[in-house]
Amino acid sequence: MAGVKKAVTKAKPKLKAAASIRGACLCGAVEIEVDVPVFWAWHDHTVASRRVHGAAYATYVGTYRSKFRLTRGEDVVSRFEEEATGNARSFCSRCGTPLTYERKRSPKWVNLPRALFAGRTGRETKYHIGHEQLRDWAYLGAPVGPLKGYPGVMVERTRKKKVAESDSLFDPEMFGTK
Ligand SMILES: [Zn+2]
Repeated sequence: MAGVKKAVTKAKPKLKAAASIRGACLCGAVEIEVDVPVFWAWHDHTVASRRVHGAAYATYVGTYRSKFRLTRGEDVVSRFEEEATGNARSFCSRCGTPLTYERKRSPKWVNLPRALFAGRTGRETKYHIGHEQLRDWAYLGAPVGPLKGYPGVMVERTRKKKVAESDSLFDPEMFGTK
């Protein structure tokens, strides 16, 4: 019966716990956990997500519900279902932090605000939904410098062409353009 013995040995593999990262709301009452890598990561520029987050756009990680766990604070989690779409969002009723975004047409999936997690999610955030709704007041990474007289405040640099030219690494005379 050597074959059976072998089978028994094979049936006892080392339990390998899935890697996961933890997240929390602002006040700390709610804690969540998600297995990584998540399925995908995306920026949501649509008006509903913008308003719920009070931000130019929201960045989410999406995963199977089975890979998401609410580990603390279930009693303070509130849920809001948008009538028009049937999409549901949950948030901490103490501090208002958005926690989950579930879309009615994708019942097996849950989207979680990327900002809740300090750890790596295992996915690059390179997808966009509602990109055409990107606001003209969103910050897109323009260069900034300190604002004189206001410590900690940075201001976007809008350079006039002349300034930019004189600041160039290359001397225009070198190319005979001046
Ligand atoms: Zn909270």
